[in-house]
Amino acid sequence: MKVSIDQDLCIACEACPALCPDLFAMYPNCDFAYALVEEVPKELEDCAQEAARSCPVQAIIIED
Ligand code: SF4
Repeated sequence: MKVSIDQDLCIACEACPALCPDLFAMYPNCDFAYALVEEVPKELEDCAQEAARSCPVQAIIIED
């Protein structure tokens, strides 16, 4: 599973780093989030899916 963030859509709500701090972080200026990894470790796949569902603007892109 791969994960990335569409930074044109992200509104910096900070939900994804709150849910999955091992997968997502905010840029220091907090304009948008970014994925810390490209390939999601197996044990974090559920968290990645939950973050994608929780994103208010569907900016988290998951690919199998
Ligand atoms: S949950 Fe979505 S809008 Fe919020 S910081 Fe993450 S990618 Fe951006």
